[in-house]
Amino acid sequence: MILRAKYVMPNSYTIIENGAVAIQGSEIVDVGPYPTIQHSGTLPIHDLGEAILTPGLVNAHTHLDLTSSADSVQRVPKFTDWVFQIVGKRNPSTIEPSIREGVQQSLAGGVTAVGDIDGTGGSAQILRDTPIRKVVFCEVLGFSGEHATTGLARLTAYLDAAPVLDSLLTPALSPHAPYSTSADIYRQCVASGLSVCTHIAETKEELEFLSSGTGAFVDYLEAFGISTAGWRPPQATPMQYMETLGVLDKKSLLAHCNYLTDADVTILAESGASVVFCPRSHHYFYHTDHPVLQLIERGINVAIGTDSLASNWSLSLLDELKFLGRTQPRIHPETLFDMVTYNGAKALGLERVGRLERGWQADIIAVKIPNDGRPAIEQILDSASENLLTVVGGKICYSSNHQE
Ligand SMILES: [Zn+2]
Repeated sequence: MILRAKYVMPNSYTIIENGAVAIQGSEIVDVGPYPTIQHSGTLPIHDLGEAILTPGLVNAHTHLDLTSSADSVQRVPKFTDWVFQIVGKRNPSTIEPSIREGVQQSLAGGVTAVGDIDGTGGSAQILRDTPIRKVVFCEVLGFSGEHATTGLARLTAYLDAAPVLDSLLTPALSPHAPYSTSADIYRQCVASGLSVCTHIAETKEELEFLSSGTGAFVDYLEAFGISTAGWRPPQATPMQYMETLGVLDKKSLLAHCNYLTDADVTILAESGASVVFCPRSHHYFYHTDHPVLQLIERGINVAIGTDSLASNWSLSLLDELKFLGRTQPRIHPETLFDMVTYNGAKALGLERVGRLERGWQADIIAVKIPNDGRPAIEQILDSASENLLTVVGGKICYSSNHQE
């Protein structure tokens, strides 16, 4: 198939007028001005008109299994109270429809790839036949005693099971967070060799817990009957703790990183780990300013995520990009666009994804723009822009006229 539009933006820094992308199978075979496009055979042409073709958006952090239960979660100022509402929300009857609805909402919002946290161990089977690219992080937690034993058993069972085979699916692991997951489980996740995503430096309460072993997370664990009695806090920042456990390397993805010291940023920069910033979720929890600018300036790979609908109002990464454009005026639009495309793919370990180039995966969206003469990238960030078409691995998975 050939996709044609007024503009093609193969990466954040290049604009082609009257452009087109030729696709054969799952790959891009040519990108350029429409009259020069090379391909073999006769390919059907889809003309998107006053739109811009761009790489598909990568949502590097979400929880699709919470999509349908989100309405019952109240916005409360205290993070541990919010988590209390989430625990137990995932039940077998809601997981499958929740994930399927989440995939549809994602595709409609311009998302071609997700980093999805699997809260029950069942997401990969459900996601296997859905037409979106996904890295599925099986969530493991267990802090002490029986809680830790159960978590380790779950991790072992997951690693022993046959991997889910799907050209669009990559299995990975998510040790949940330092207040819910033991050092041993963290180490075993790293030893598996799979990519690892963890929630880290998310709240001030987490800093207190790791520094002195006190505060809201002690109450939280005890409310679930999980003892902190024999546990010695590492007396470290969350990032220092992750470094000690060997978590930080090129295969690690750190969700949130809301509260970092300068020394933490240096540790991160030297590790090659990626950070996923969730701007609207960050806003939802009333956090103080995120150090995203500092991370970018230090050359750290920063991707963007929506988190779940339990702390956001849509799974659209186009919406997230527009929110970023409004709230982070000091970051260039080109950098913002890299964060929702190429950086996300890099953070998830996806190769040949995130740009439109010959031989790369045909993950493409068509964004309708106001056509008001401004640079195309600024028009994508305009509140009036909308996603018309989502293509994943060369297949049309969503169009604003009808779903295919
Ligand atoms: Zn999360």
